[in-house]
Amino acid sequence: MSNPFRLPMAPRAIRNLFSKPATRRYPYEIRPRFDGARGTIKFDVDTCNYCTLCAKRCPAAAITVSREDRTWAIEHLTCIGCNVCVEVCAKKSLAMSTEAKHVHTHAEVGPQGQRPGHEEWHGADPAIAAAAAKAAAELSIDAPSS
Ligand code: SF4
Ligand code: SF4
Repeated sequence: MSNPFRLPMAPRAIRNLFSKPATRRYPYEIRPRFDGARGTIKFDVDTCNYCTLCAKRCPAAAITVSREDRTWAIEHLTCIGCNVCVEVCAKKSLAMSTEAKHVHTHAEVGPQGQRPGHEEWHGADPAIAAAAAKAAAELSIDAPSS
């Protein structure tokens, strides 16, 4: 029978009472990354052609792409950082970023339907983008030289 007066965890419990918490208030306090950490996915909406290959190959089903609507979305809290999407993207639209990542918190959920860890891009309609590029080119030709 064990001794009820023997408290092997007592010294640790007392130490914990007077030490800082072992956890941090993520996402308000972000831990510096470890050396060699891969980071988080960064997307370039200007080069993506919405081929959907990254979404098809993602083992965590963290990416959603719509060719028709020209939308690209990622769930950062589902992503396991395997880098597969970066490797398969022929347009080099994806990269791993080691910059501190801002993750939407519940307090920020708004009318756009943002939710924690969700990022979404809407590409311009090709016809509209071409018209805008043409207009910009004409403006730069017409601009008076200084
Ligand atoms: S990010 Fe790359 S692989 Fe994914 S849809 Fe865009 S072009 Fe295709
Ligand atoms: S890094 Fe891996 S898990 Fe994350 S989005 Fe890319 S393929 Fe999916």
